[in-house]
Order: sequence, then C-alpha cells, then structure tokens
Amino acid sequence: MKSKAAQKLQDLHYFGEFGGVNPSISDSSTYTFLSAKTMFDTFEGNTEGCYLYSRHSSPSNLYLGEALAALEQTESANVYASGMGAITAVIMQLCNANDHIVTSRTIYGGTYALMKNFLPKFNINSSFVDITKLEAVAAAITPKTKMIYCEAVSNPLLEIADITALAQLAKQHNIPLVVDNTFSPLSISPASLGADIVIHSLTKFINGTSDCVAGVVCGTTDFCLSLKDVNDGAGMLFGSTLDSLRAASILKNMRTLHIRIKKHSENTHYLANKFEADGLKVVYPGLASHPGHETMLKQLNPEYGFGGMMTLDVGSLDKANALMELMQQENLGYLAVSLGFYKTLFSAPGTSTSSEIPIEEQEEMGLTDGLIRFSIGLDHDIEHTYNAMKSCMLKLGILDSSTVTA
Ligand SMILES: *Cc1c(COP(=O)(O)O)cnc(C)c1O
Repeated sequence: MKSKAAQKLQDLHYFGEFGGVNPSISDSSTYTFLSAKTMFDTFEGNTEGCYLYSRHSSPSNLYLGEALAALEQTESANVYASGMGAITAVIMQLCNANDHIVTSRTIYGGTYALMKNFLPKFNINSSFVDITKLEAVAAAITPKTKMIYCEAVSNPLLEIADITALAQLAKQHNIPLVVDNTFSPLSISPASLGADIVIHSLTKFINGTSDCVAGVVCGTTDFCLSLKDVNDGAGMLFGSTLDSLRAASILKNMRTLHIRIKKHSENTHYLANKFEADGLKVVYPGLASHPGHETMLKQLNPEYGFGGMMTLDVGSLDKANALMELMQQENLGYLAVSLGFYKTLFSAPGTSTSSEIPIEEQEEMGLTDGLIRFSIGLDHDIEHTYNAMKSCMLKLGILDSSTVTA
C-alpha cells in the first residue's frame, strides 16, 4: 500500500492572487484591521484565521505549514527560521524551570549542545540514553520529565528509534514523544506511528537545494496555536520567524520531494551494498547488517526506501580527511556539513557537526575518528559514481585491489 503523505501533498492546491499556479508571496510585515474592535480581540488571544503581524503568521508561511502538516499527517504545522528555531520553540513551550527531558544520546550536535550546555541555565536537565534500549528510556523518566525526544533516524550514527514503542511508553507517562524526522521525510511518518510532535530542519532534504535555513513543528492545532500565542507562545516570543520569500521557495521545492527521496534512497542503497561487499564498514539502515534494520522496515513507507544518508568508517581521521579531499577534487561531491543536497556532501562528524559531543562520549556511542557521513546526491549514473569513489579509495589504500568486487 502506498503511503498517503505524497498524495495529500499533491492534493493541496493554491491559486495566486491573479490565478497564478503558485500562491502569491506575502510582502507585508503588518496587516490592516477593518475595525479597532477586531484588533483588540486579536491581542486578547483570538488570533485564529487572522493576520496581525508577520512574526505571528503570514499567508506564505501558512501555505508552507499546511503542506508540511500534509506531509507529516498532523492537524497543523508552524514554520520557523531554522531547525534549531523549531526545536527551541518546542522545548521552551513544554518545559518550565526545573523540568527534565529524556533524550536519545545520538542527536544532532546543536540539539545536544542546547540540552547539555544551555538548558541547565534554567535547571532544565536532560538524561541522554541509548534510544534503542526501551528499558533505559523508561528508567530515565522521572515525575519531572516533560518529553521523550529523539530523531527517527539519528545523526550521525543512523540509529533507528522504535517510534511505536516509544510512543506507547510516552503515553503511559502522559508525556509527549517529540521526533526530529530531518533524516527521513516521507520514508518514516512518525505521527502516524504515534509521535505527538514532529520536527524538521527544512534546510536539508525537504528544501533540497542547500540555499536556505528553515524549520518546522508539526502537531495538533492546539499545540501549534499555543506556540504562536501572543502572550506566552515560545515560537512567537523567541521570534525565529521564517521570511515569506523563503517560505514560498521551500514550498515549490517540496513539490518534487517524493521523486528526490526515492532517488536519494536508490543511490545510497546501491553504494551501501557495493561498499559492504568490498569489505568496508558501512552503516546504512537498508542493510541487513544494520542493528536497526528490522525496526526501520517495520515503520518504513517502502516506496521511499531507507533514505539518503550512510556512513563509512575508513579507519582513521587522516584517511577520512584524505579521502574527502580527493573525492572533492574528483567532483564526486563537496566536503561540507549539512545534507539533502542534489550533490553528494560528506564530512567527518567527530570533528565537525558532532564536535559539541565530548570525545569520551563520542567513543561510547560508537562515533569513531575515521567515520565519514555521506549525504548521497541525485547522481544520474550511480554505478559511475561508485567506480569513481572506489578509485579514490584504491589510490589511498582504503581499499585493496585484491579484495574489491569486480
Ligand atoms: C541540521 C539539523 C538540525 C538543525 O537544523 P538547522 O536548520 O540547521 O537549524 C536539527 N536536527 C537535525 C537532525 C539536523 O540534521
């Protein structure tokens, strides 16, 4: 059975002001009221369906939010100026001083730094657990815990969270399960598996052109409205507002998301199979050797595949750096952080995107020195790409010509 998300997205139709095939872009920071009474009511909190000021909402941001709610099959969605803007809005809305978070220990470096270094200022403390061990998650929950937080497919180690099981656990404790689905849009639909709040960095696959930074929170209408509340909404008051021009361009890019995700997955799966057969240490959730393979399979929307992210461990940081430089020279991709671009991007997470995590903790979670994180691009001829990558590895002695597959 095909998943509903892409159809729901396709079913959305907007007309521009003049009948254009794309909605008009809102070009105002503020909006007129026809009567003074309506303005008063709006500031009293009765803001639904009405434009006030573009930090609160704008037509372009609402259109994009609607598309993202369709993607994640939630009632509503609010867009933000970045993924971190979305994450901080959710956390600050759900937690008071002295509260507690149970989170996966393998999460995006910025989220980790927020929880580890910044939130303790407010005495909001986090327990970092192995999210694949349900007993460990359950044991970390205290009466002060306000959420279970995880990534559906984690950064950078590609651990797979069992969202159904975590949602049940969260429900038993009457707390929300918050899932960052940045690595697996369309492939996994966390809300349909029981997650209460789904977050994305739109900067990555959803936008797909590495030309802007943006984020989204998908959830119930009540929760999304609470974030926007003029009196006490963390989204409204912290003010990480997405610009309307950007919202409009992300919405257009979303129209091709289903095609892109299939191609990213197909290319990545091909390379993962090949490099595993060549004897390299490959982590890809589509491989039977991946510890989360069965969990991923159980919650996968199969037509989209296992996603566009994989890691290779080439043994040492020196080798990783040499390989990345050579691959960039050979135009196989860019040595850059971020992901979801149409060209392949690669970086060594231990010294870049996850450098916020102390070395001892990196080791404990299996984040080794020689690890390269790949976001595989939309290459037309992936066999050609494989051969070119393989020559780089042979040249650097990462692969040995006597052992590689033909
Ligand atoms: C990039 C990223 C973020 C942060 O998003 P920004 O748009 O850079 O603020 C959060 N979570 C994950 C999994 C990411 O990859």
